[in-house]
Amino acid sequence: MKLAIIGAGASGLVAAIEAAKRGLHVSVFEKNTKLGRKILATGNGRCNITNQTISAEHYHSTQPRFINAALSRFGSAKCVNYFRELGLEVREGEKGRLYPMNHQSSTVVDMLVHACRQLGVQFFTESEVVLLEKNGEKFCLTVNNTTHLFEACLVATGGLAMPTLGSCESGYVFAKKMGHTLINPHPSLVQIVCEEKSIQALSGVKVEGEIGVVIEGEKKKNAVGDLLFTQYGLSGSAVLDVSREISLAISLKRSVYVVLDIMPQFSKEHLENLLQKRLNFAQDKSLVLWLEGIIHKKLAPFIIQQASLPKSILAASMLGMKEIKKLVYTLKHISLHVNDTKGFGSAEVTAGGVDVREINPESFESKMVKNLYFSGEVLDVDGDCGGYNLHFAWASGFVAGNAIGKR
Ligand SMILES: Cc1cc2nc3c(=O)[nH]c(=O)nc-3n(C[C@H](O)[C@H](O)[C@H](O)COP(=O)(O)OP(=O)(O)OC[C@H]3O[C@@H](n4cnc5c(N)ncnc54)[C@H](O)[C@@H]3O)c2cc1C
Repeated sequence: MKLAIIGAGASGLVAAIEAAKRGLHVSVFEKNTKLGRKILATGNGRCNITNQTISAEHYHSTQPRFINAALSRFGSAKCVNYFRELGLEVREGEKGRLYPMNHQSSTVVDMLVHACRQLGVQFFTESEVVLLEKNGEKFCLTVNNTTHLFEACLVATGGLAMPTLGSCESGYVFAKKMGHTLINPHPSLVQIVCEEKSIQALSGVKVEGEIGVVIEGEKKKNAVGDLLFTQYGLSGSAVLDVSREISLAISLKRSVYVVLDIMPQFSKEHLENLLQKRLNFAQDKSLVLWLEGIIHKKLAPFIIQQASLPKSILAASMLGMKEIKKLVYTLKHISLHVNDTKGFGSAEVTAGGVDVREINPESFESKMVKNLYFSGEVLDVDGDCGGYNLHFAWASGFVAGNAIGKR
């Protein structure tokens, strides 16, 4: 049986190995010059392959139960073992994240491609599939002005995140042409753009803080971690963690605010006590210098301005309890209006995609077209930050490749 795989990304490469192991003649078409181009960019070049805590709760989809079958067959331990058998040892990082032992994403690609070549998989690079059609029982792929016929086809074209790495909408176009429905794609794990120009002065400041998302006046989601102020708004791990909700709300034209607590390690009372005690060391210090004793230099004037203290208060020694309370409130409630996200150009992942109600979760075969398969990010499944997205790409490629090989 001849199988065409469209896309030599994480999912397509694992599917190619599995199908070729079962004796299929596998051809992989990749529009980029390089194979696994996006894998190379993952985890800042270190490739966060998977996580020790792989479970359905780290994934999002309109059909959350869809991924259970794939995760039960290809969980965290299976993934580690899979890469070990390919020749790659892993090491643990923070929050259960697992990386290749040498911290080099290029080795992940090299090991996958080596296994494919050993199994006789044929690669066609700089080969964008521009048309996917059904010709009787066969799939007809148009690539570089030539048509190729196959008995089965796997669409592993990824999502829309970071087009500079090869992402494009062709998987969605193929799916729609074959009669599938699309859940509106929107960026996830993405930085956010804020309206307040005043935060531009904070650009480069990074704090360990808490971010809360408020949509149409209702508090929705919280995350703790790095908050990085930028020229356009906010980045950092905590921001990426809440970005899915923000991106969805923005796509639905809802009003979105974020509330930052830049001192989450202190309760309100604890912080009030601390500031009161620090008045003992106020001497003739300016308010800004006094506040720099506990927060970043750039944050001190910003907090003072946000707290709307009377203009007459220039020195810390002039602070009363009322002003201390205002400062504490501001340190724990910086409210910013979110205009937008940085979009697919900066996002790590795409939420939405091919509707999984039309895909068999046991095989990743289309329920509409026999011998047509979809795997990886092109589907309406996205994961949290921490190795979950690559894990789904490997897992779905593994299940699809096996299922096609068993036909
Ligand atoms: C900067 C960055 C860092 C990331 N870091 C991590 C991380 O550390 N851990 C993690 O779990 N996830 C990470 N992700 C997310 C993860 O990389 C993706 O979820 C995963 O690569 C998706 O795999 P895929 O095989 O579905 O798609 P992709 O890896 O995107 O592969 C799809 C391939 O299909 C090709 N293609 C598309 N259309 C066509 C066509 N018509 N013809 C031929 N070829 C085509 C594309 O060029 C591409 O090579 C990161 C993403 C980015 C952008």
